[in-house]
Amino acid sequence: SEAFNKMASRLQANVTELRAFVANASHELRTPLTVVKLRAEALQDGAMEDPDISKRFMGEIEHEVDRLVRMVNDLLDLSRMEAGMDAEQPKLIDMSTLAAEVYETFKIRADRAGVNLECDIEPDLPPIMGNEDQLMRVFYNLLDNAIKYTPSGGKVELSVKKTQTDGYIRTQVSDNGQGIAPEHLPHVFERFYRVETTPARSGLIRGSGLGLSIAKSIVENHGGVMGASSEIDAGTTFWADLPAAV
Ligand code: ADP
Repeated sequence: SEAFNKMASRLQANVTELRAFVANASHELRTPLTVVKLRAEALQDGAMEDPDISKRFMGEIEHEVDRLVRMVNDLLDLSRMEAGMDAEQPKLIDMSTLAAEVYETFKIRADRAGVNLECDIEPDLPPIMGNEDQLMRVFYNLLDNAIKYTPSGGKVELSVKKTQTDGYIRTQVSDNGQGIAPEHLPHVFERFYRVETTPARSGLIRGSGLGLSIAKSIVENHGGVMGASSEIDAGTTFWADLPAAV
């Protein structure tokens, strides 16, 4: 009966979590849909006559639809990942090569944002067993965030090294941007969690708040651990420790 009680309370916790997820997801999807509906109505009710206004409203509709598409794609990826549905066979992956590729890709974006991107990659690291596209996504999310939340003139560093604990490889992205307040830090890996008081670099599209939760799922699916430390106005460090295959 003890085992049964345990199972029942775990089931209850899952149901509660699912309910919260559905509520959050619906809320997040409803906001852009409301904007699209209001703008479309206004256009039909005469806003179309004014070329400036109609151009602006069309732009807003497109922007919100883009956001919806991104969010739905993220949600699909997340649920696929959590269901362990990924067709690809795990392969041996060289993290130094992967990191170097990602660095090249992001260097251009960082330059454009006026952020100094540096990398520190240990050579001859043991390989990791996993899914390359998924691991790439972890790098992308961390670097994208670091650049997004670091003001022009700031610095971001990508490093990949063996950890002190044997058998693990640490991927780390540090920035000297705005940082995350201690009351928000424990929540940033939650789905849909965004720190509203920290606006991203102007002109950038607001995220869905799903990026870090996807990254964490990927790292955990690879048998790894993910964490973060931060200090307001000093910067943030995200790290992911992944077990080496050999
Ligand atoms: P988003 O799509 O909003 O970036 P994430 O899940 O990737 O979603 O991140 C969640 C929140 O964590 C962000 O909205 C932001 O408030 C905060 N955050 C993430 N990375 C950083 C960083 N490097 N510096 C400051 N805040 C960050």
